[in-house]
Amino acid sequence: MRLFDSHAHLDFPQFDPDRESVIRGLAEAGVYVVNVGVDLESSRASLELARKHRHIFAACGVHPHEAKRFTEEALRELAGLLDQGAVALGECGLDYYRDLSPREDQKRAFRAQLELAKEKDLPVIVHLRGDAREDLLEILREVNPGKGVIHAFSAAHGSPREFLDLGFHIGIGGPITYKKNVALRAYLREIPLDRLLVETDSPYLPPEPFRGKRNDPGKVRLVVEKIAEVLRISPNEVAERTFENSVRLFALKL
Ligand SMILES: [Zn+2]
Repeated sequence: MRLFDSHAHLDFPQFDPDRESVIRGLAEAGVYVVNVGVDLESSRASLELARKHRHIFAACGVHPHEAKRFTEEALRELAGLLDQGAVALGECGLDYYRDLSPREDQKRAFRAQLELAKEKDLPVIVHLRGDAREDLLEILREVNPGKGVIHAFSAAHGSPREFLDLGFHIGIGGPITYKKNVALRAYLREIPLDRLLVETDSPYLPPEPFRGKRNDPGKVRLVVEKIAEVLRISPNEVAERTFENSVRLFALKL
């Protein structure tokens, strides 16, 4: 079974003790990964991982937490990084849950990155958290690069309908396995199979029964199995369709 984890952070310090052996295990298990940058430094690290490993691809972008440091110079530097083989711009977006950057800075950085993605003809990986749905939709309607994924989709985001209408894919991760997450499993049924991606957000958001532990891209299999159970199709079909969707969205040559 081939699996595609569309969102992980293997460059994060949680993987410092055993990064190479985790990555080797993924290659052996047939797990492909998009490693996602959250600032310029981790974007560089993502490119480096992608250069070293043929089953890892890089996304470069600046997370809303870092938006207050997103200067004109940072934008130029990000543009340069994207030209070094990135398959997506991200993650970028709005986070009104932790509010680590002022909301005006978040909106400005998000808009600028959407415009850059459009210019580079790259899909965007969008982070949305807290009460930011309406602002995010407004900006997407204004500057939509036309392709991308709403990552770590959660029931708190409301219906996926409007994001699908804007051409986005929906990324589903570990929380789909949580017992109380009935609402997310209901929304899952509204997502057409050709717009669905699976992800781990490693080292965060581990699926059951690994809550509280470090997540890794191999655990995307548990997300696939839960989705298959909810949609009453085979895990193989979920794995294969989400794999194909990732290859198509990120325009990968495997
Ligand atoms: Zn992430």
